[in-house]
Amino acid sequence: MENKTDILSLTPAELQEFIISLGEPRYRADQIYTFLMRGAATFAEMTNIPKKLIEKLENTAFIASAKQVQKLTSKDGTVKYLYEMYDGEKIESVVMKYHYGNTICISSEAGCAMGCAFCASTLGGISRKLLPSELLSQVIQSGKDLGERIDGVVLMGIGEPLDNYDNVVKFLRLVNEEKGLNIGLRHISLSTCGIVPRIYDLAKEGLPITLSVSLHASNDETRSALMPVNKRWNIEALLTACRDYFASTGRRISFEYTLISGKNATEQAARELSAVLRKYCSSMPIHVNLIPVNAVKERGFTPSDKADIAKFAAILEKNHIVATVRRHLGSDIDASCGQLRAKSAQNQAT
Ligand code: SAH
Repeated sequence: MENKTDILSLTPAELQEFIISLGEPRYRADQIYTFLMRGAATFAEMTNIPKKLIEKLENTAFIASAKQVQKLTSKDGTVKYLYEMYDGEKIESVVMKYHYGNTICISSEAGCAMGCAFCASTLGGISRKLLPSELLSQVIQSGKDLGERIDGVVLMGIGEPLDNYDNVVKFLRLVNEEKGLNIGLRHISLSTCGIVPRIYDLAKEGLPITLSVSLHASNDETRSALMPVNKRWNIEALLTACRDYFASTGRRISFEYTLISGKNATEQAARELSAVLRKYCSSMPIHVNLIPVNAVKERGFTPSDKADIAKFAAILEKNHIVATVRRHLGSDIDASCGQLRAKSAQNQAT
């Protein structure tokens, strides 16, 4: 794919420029854009484009379309896709069906470099970052396969979105394109493990998305043991960035806290978490999502039981912190991200 234009990463204006540079009329760009947004994986299937132009396109451009290689449907309606990229890399997307619409959880990288102790996505390290087109294609192909509109996107799949900053920001603009998928930025969440300088950059982009921050611990010792990124940017640096992000964007941040029995789930941890959030973030609304850890075989962590989670939530509430317990969707299909990619790599190795 070297030297070829990644056509699905272009905005409609950039696509027009590209088509004009090929010596073709502008309106061809609109026709091609429509085919791309409907999920065309090859130029040959663009039926009203002249053969000569199709040849030109094949010689100068490529469509980084995500190819479905596996599909699992849960009893609760959650659908998980394993997609293959143009170079054979595999990633996952999950569509969750809520009463208010379909939300897709997409991957931002093939693998992950962050090394969080509880996470399956990082087990094999990172192969490469995904292109804007490869983020967009997950949304396009999943919507096409389901025959349904995708209403919202969460960047909570494999990878660290802020480690692939430029491509993720470009994707956010592409997916919001009025002539394209037209998904509202307010219906998009981006989850980060806490790459602090990029949180400041993101605040300047003027994108009204929702930022989710994976906190998972109430002190630096525990957080550094669970999340190596904390050794670079600790809780104080992270929560200060969150406070500043809210101050400049006015957008609410939600904190993710996965409860792991014996690690971060005691009543003492709940009190410490309340104190640290109030210390750095009292100037903003604080919302904590409590998530029982998904048991990942290779990791050996156990989730807290329901009663302990309720106790944890009650302590946060007592400290005026809104806490919700995340509903578990798709646990019968290994819907937590990274598990299918890891399995597929294992199968190939054996
Ligand atoms: N890299 C980003 C987004 C991907 S992970 C981030 O760290 O936020 C999406 C969420 O799932 C994160 O909050 C992550 O910490 C959490 N997660 C990862 N593995 C998990 C597991 N085994 N159980 C529960 N949550 C997990």
